[in-house]
Amino acid sequence: MPETHEFQAEIKQLLDIVVHSLYTEKEIFVRELVSNASDALEKLRHTQLTEKDIADGDLALEINITTDEEAKTLTIEDHGIGMNAEELVQFLGTIAHSGSKAFLDAIKEGGAKNDNLIGQFGVGFYSAFMVAKSVKVYSKSFRADEPANVWTSDGSGSYTVEEVTDQKRGTKIVIELKDDAEDYAKKDHVKTVLERYSSFVSFPVNLDGDHVNTVSALWLRSKNEITDEEYTEFYKFQAHAYDEPRLKLHFSADAPLSINSILFVPQSNTEKFGMTRAEPAVSLYCRKVLIDPAPKDLLPEWGRFLKGVVDSEDLPLNISRETMQDRALIEKLGKVITTRFLKFLADEAKKRPEDFDKFYAEFGIFIKEGAATDHTHKDALAKLLRFESSRTDAGKTTSLTDYVSRMGEEQKEIYFLIGPSRDAIDRGPYLEGLKARNLEVIYCFENVDDYVMRNLREFDGKNLTAADSADLKLGDHEAEGEALEKDKLDALIKWLKETLGKKVAEVKSSDRLVDSPAAVLNADQFMSPQMRQMMKSMKPEGDDAEAPPVQVHLELNPRHAVIKKLSEVKDSNEGKAVLMAEQLHDNALLAAGLLEDPSTMVQRLYKLLEQV
Ligand code: ADP
Ligand code: MG
Repeated sequence: MPETHEFQAEIKQLLDIVVHSLYTEKEIFVRELVSNASDALEKLRHTQLTEKDIADGDLALEINITTDEEAKTLTIEDHGIGMNAEELVQFLGTIAHSGSKAFLDAIKEGGAKNDNLIGQFGVGFYSAFMVAKSVKVYSKSFRADEPANVWTSDGSGSYTVEEVTDQKRGTKIVIELKDDAEDYAKKDHVKTVLERYSSFVSFPVNLDGDHVNTVSALWLRSKNEITDEEYTEFYKFQAHAYDEPRLKLHFSADAPLSINSILFVPQSNTEKFGMTRAEPAVSLYCRKVLIDPAPKDLLPEWGRFLKGVVDSEDLPLNISRETMQDRALIEKLGKVITTRFLKFLADEAKKRPEDFDKFYAEFGIFIKEGAATDHTHKDALAKLLRFESSRTDAGKTTSLTDYVSRMGEEQKEIYFLIGPSRDAIDRGPYLEGLKARNLEVIYCFENVDDYVMRNLREFDGKNLTAADSADLKLGDHEAEGEALEKDKLDALIKWLKETLGKKVAEVKSSDRLVDSPAAVLNADQFMSPQMRQMMKSMKPEGDDAEAPPVQVHLELNPRHAVIKKLSEVKDSNEGKAVLMAEQLHDNALLAAGLLEDPSTMVQRLYKLLEQV
């Protein structure tokens, strides 16, 4: 008796979209199933290295595809690793495949209307339901004593699993084609579809008994023999991708390790679509034999957006992460490849700056992550960073290298300011002192920038300094206008300290201000205003614990009319002077993005207005 199962809710949703999709390139289902067959054979080849007791050990490692025009079926068969009953349920009935997960996340983000999405993500096995009235998956596990089963579904809510007797090791998928997909029961049609990528399959592919592919590893061929189309098809096949690669690097090396590699950067950063984190996807080969389709320790974390292959003759086939020696080898390999890729990006930035900027707009977040976390490649990564600055036009960026080349002789540090937008930074009180001294300031708009700058710490031997930090030292500067006399200024500072009390850690006169009367400086070395905001927003609901008070220095501009006025008013009308002082302080906090409760400010302003 067949056992009936319900698909997991997510799969139902996925199938509903796939079955009703208007996606025109239905043929990709062939690629998906052939690639699954190839994966299953790779897995078996790998298992054979360690396991002896394998079912039907004499079966050839190949993929057999058969068409039947009369029955209107297409059959794809492999003698790979196979699945037992539980695996059929788990792998084909629940959401395991990362591409499908990313697809569903994207749908949730962007709304189900976006027909194009199916063209951007692989839905793997389920793509068969674009053309199928029903799908039967016969499968027998490589484990010697497991019975074979058949999984059957029409792509609506459920499927059945039933034991069968005549299936050998591996998987046979029989597709009963929909009326509008009968072409896939014709040998010639299937042949055209297969020709495009079957040469990337590392096992023989036979169509109705005829061998259709010459197994060739693209990455071992010479670059000038390979067409752009071949690279693109290879990328799509290897990375399960639906787009065209944005960038491609094909390189070989002999020393210190022998390497043949093709790396691709996709069109878009899938992490943007939702919460799904990209998984490492550069496959590791040794002499054309797949060692690991997605090694986690080959490339650094930030490289997880890359696709492609790395083949090294120097790796042992049975490489083991448990031994020091093999781990060191992988590490060395990863380092060579990463260095080479970063050099490639640097070249791109030079030769095709516009394309590089587009790449950076999409993937810059990974470069930033790397610059902050990858100590080995920090310098090369930092050179790829791009920021707007007080010298660039809005929307245009500069590299830190170019910034340094513009630095005057006296300038020892690289200054940056963090703010929500160019306007906000331009209007704030922190820029003016640096601008007056003709110092360029890097603008940081992204949440991660604070973290990146703090971790990077320096570039080309120069400290990266936040222009709103209390310990910023600026050189002498001929300031315009008469300053408040020293004794009056000292008295005002003393009075302000008393009046503002715990709200300020220190009050002092400053020459960094030009147009603003005052500014607060972050005096907390370990926490920037941006980090404070983030911590606050992450505080769990109901947690009323007071955050530690903001440690700020209040700096005064002794040349500013407001400061001079305050100095007078404090002696003639102290009540009004207190209101002014508090308002001054709140204004400065507001400009720094640190004002936590603006409501008291409004009341105070009314009181002040009553007195004009
Ligand atoms: P992916 O291939 O990305 O994992 P798929 O949706 O294509 O996602 O396949 C889901 C899972 O079903 C695979 O991970 C694999 O475990 C299993 N599977 C699919 N086809 C086969 C096959 N021919 N042989 C063995 N297992 C398979
Ligand atoms: Mg697949």
